[in-house]
Amino acid sequence: MNPFIANSTLLRIAEEIGAPAYVYSADIIKSKYSDLCKAFRKCNARFHYAVKALSNINILKLFREMGSGLDTVSMQEVQLGLKAGFDPQDIIYTPNCVSFEEIEQVIGLGVKINIDNISILEQLGAKYGDTVPVCIRINPHIMAGGNYKISTGHIDSKFGISIHQLRHVERIVQSLNIRVEGLHMHTGSDILDANVFLNAADILFNIAMEFPGLEYLDFGSGFKVAYKPQDVVTDIEELGEKLAERYAVFCKEYGKDIQIYFEPGKYLVSESGYFITKVNVVKHTTATVFAGIDSGANHLIRPMLYNAYHHITNLSNFEGVKRIYTVVGYICETDTFAWDRPIAEITEGDFLCFHNAGAYGYMMASNYNSRFRPAEVLVEGDTYRLIRRRETMEDLLATQVLD
Ligand SMILES: *Cc1c(COP(=O)(O)O)cnc(C)c1O
Repeated sequence: MNPFIANSTLLRIAEEIGAPAYVYSADIIKSKYSDLCKAFRKCNARFHYAVKALSNINILKLFREMGSGLDTVSMQEVQLGLKAGFDPQDIIYTPNCVSFEEIEQVIGLGVKINIDNISILEQLGAKYGDTVPVCIRINPHIMAGGNYKISTGHIDSKFGISIHQLRHVERIVQSLNIRVEGLHMHTGSDILDANVFLNAADILFNIAMEFPGLEYLDFGSGFKVAYKPQDVVTDIEELGEKLAERYAVFCKEYGKDIQIYFEPGKYLVSESGYFITKVNVVKHTTATVFAGIDSGANHLIRPMLYNAYHHITNLSNFEGVKRIYTVVGYICETDTFAWDRPIAEITEGDFLCFHNAGAYGYMMASNYNSRFRPAEVLVEGDTYRLIRRRETMEDLLATQVLD
């Protein structure tokens, strides 16, 4: 049985901290992390948590304590990781279309560098030769899942170096004496089927044979989590078993037990997160009953951006009779969280909770409409603590030039 935060605890936090607030469960994160370790125990696997899903430094410290590494996509995420106490070699930097200057700065910080285009590979090799080992991000052109926006392996994708350009990559590597320590692929956030992933893994195993001296193969992420009760989830046990068979064959052929890396974000933190809001207005129109909350696309944009589903419960009337609501935000923009949702009867002032809000929730929050971003809270065992205070007017003005 997976751990969860009890309704009574969420309600108490809402009453004490106020809404809107993101609440995360350390116990759920720990349980997801240990599920992954267990599933891939036969693959010499290491996990690098994808910081962009949720980058609060307290969450990063939790990952460090569990023995995880970090996957980062910007210089700033690298700096957050270092501030959280990570060893630079436990951080992978996987940028896309960032400047060579930024890459050089990150090289200076001593983290692992993942290169995603030929132009940068060439510049890096010309300047650093074999003194800076690199990982190369390959795009195997495998379409993971059905959501084009969050899939990164398809032919039109801007991510990675095409598998069809491998000959060119090898030429550059040889000419400039570049030390390739890893190969990487990340096909997107929607792997429904273990076989899609395994096909991609086979491709990477094959490419690896062309690169002696590898230390690791990085399979990115793509672990799918359930947002609706009936959603298909990635069966990581099955994936682990099947990958282990192929991994064993590969190691024999390659002549060395190299490490397998994964970089899950969503899988590790999505279910740990609860977003608590307060109902400002219940508005009956000729078409529906709106529940208008003290939040909007400025705090949780996934429903509007990806048409994402988040389960919604009424913390203040948990056992109440279900009625049909359309849940909307307070932003002057159409910011509908959910149409026609059965929710326990809502009274103005009730606290509504969005579930599975740990990944890409707070991280995509903005100050649109000049609203403050929410507070963040971490629950560990029976206690909770504030890990980010709510913003204030001073924060909104902090970067503005006042005369
Ligand atoms: C976003 C990203 C991840 C994490 O993806 P999830 O769907 O959150 O698991 C991993 N690796 C890279 C390179 C990414 O850009």
